[in-house]
Amino acid sequence: MNRPVRTQLLRVFSFIIVSLPMCLPLAAQTPSKSYQLDDCHFHLTNYIQKGINVHDLLDLMGDRVGRVALFGIPLQQQWSYRNDGDRAPEYYLASDSPLYYYSFTDAYIAMQYRSLSKDEQARFDPMITGFNPADMYAADHIRRVLQTFPGVFTGIGEFTIHKEFVSAKIPGEVASLQDRALDQILHAAAEIGLVVLIHNDMDTPFPKAGSAPAYLEQMKELVRRHPKTTIIWAHTGMGRIVRPVTGHAAIIEAILKDPAFDHLYFDISWNEVAKYFVASPESTSIAAKLIEGHPDRFLFGTDEVAPPNQKQYLRTYDQYAPMWALLSAEAREKVLKRNYERLFDEARVRVRAWEQAHSK
Ligand SMILES: [Zn+2]
Ligand SMILES: [Zn+2]
Repeated sequence: MNRPVRTQLLRVFSFIIVSLPMCLPLAAQTPSKSYQLDDCHFHLTNYIQKGINVHDLLDLMGDRVGRVALFGIPLQQQWSYRNDGDRAPEYYLASDSPLYYYSFTDAYIAMQYRSLSKDEQARFDPMITGFNPADMYAADHIRRVLQTFPGVFTGIGEFTIHKEFVSAKIPGEVASLQDRALDQILHAAAEIGLVVLIHNDMDTPFPKAGSAPAYLEQMKELVRRHPKTTIIWAHTGMGRIVRPVTGHAAIIEAILKDPAFDHLYFDISWNEVAKYFVASPESTSIAAKLIEGHPDRFLFGTDEVAPPNQKQYLRTYDQYAPMWALLSAEAREKVLKRNYERLFDEARVRVRAWEQAHSK
């Protein structure tokens, strides 16, 4: 090899060697690109306020889940000795004893978040849930939580209006989509910039054949009344027993096409919901077509409650595999990550600004 060529080669090699360490930290600064998904619906604790801690959750997220909307469950299953004896009920279906609103969940979630480093915190969007949506004071609770724990919360929910078996177990006035208290809550969310994640069954568990879905019109009216609120309708309005109403996809499609609902999004969380979406090749194709036509309006969530391992944490994601396979890469990317990042990033900025303006 003659001398100029060798010098040339040496220069190229030394350039590569010198450049490499500069490239590596750059790559490390933008890890979100390598994550597979964000999770817009996760319960750290269950109906008796037990669960995993947020550091365990970080382990479960590993290098697969980038960001998580984090909340507990606002309802506590009472252990009534008169009713349950020594058999401590852990789930709302395990007892006739009532559920009650457990506001401390918000403080618990805030403290879990605060136990994280700054970098770790960036991967979570804590949500306020500990309010009674039938109470005109609920909006005050939301403001109080933000002022007590500034810099923490991004949204409210998952809170529940109509839910099979649950609504009827809460003493006092049953929650209603037509309650002024709920309007106050959604109005406050718009003013503050909070994302709203709401569970509301579209129908009752065993509807009469041919009847209109019980709560669809009321839900549409509610969303229409709050055009400035970013609302995510959990599970597209389905439940475990509340199966997709006839023409479910057509109902959702009509909503998506109507500009009056431009601020409404749907989460496809819960393994019980995935079960319906991918029940057959036909239903999978209907679901994929619906999402492909409106890829900016759907978000993936797990709806897991304190899962013990990563396999269980991501079982709903895995269950959707046949549907992911039918979606274009772009639609999949939006549902799994980009829609989450767009909505929650915007909310973070707005809520922090509100907190600054209303600090005590
Ligand atoms: Zn739900
Ligand atoms: Zn949930």
